[in-house]
Amino acid sequence: MNEFSFFPLLSEDEIRREKQRARELRHTRWWRKKCSSGVCHYCGRFVGPQNLTMDHLVPLARGGRSVKGNLVPACKDCNNRKKTLLPQEWKDYIERDLN
Ligand SMILES: [Zn+2]
Repeated sequence: MNEFSFFPLLSEDEIRREKQRARELRHTRWWRKKCSSGVCHYCGRFVGPQNLTMDHLVPLARGGRSVKGNLVPACKDCNNRKKTLLPQEWKDYIERDLN
């Protein structure tokens, strides 16, 4: 049991659609505004808008969707870390850095 377990998993088709939607959202004014501070959502470091990437809070692989509430700007370090850590390790990492 973890915090993601209540999300229904997406089919491959749905994941493809959500990825496409994320790509489209990257070109919106909403996303540019979100990145304009240049600050990573997770570690809070200033890295500059050009170094921020779009990240899904709840990953697509876990049933997350490309909706505004689930998309945050993340620096490359955090993005890489998130990919390699287990969900619980990742949770520990962001909580440690924010406290
Ligand atoms: Zn970061």
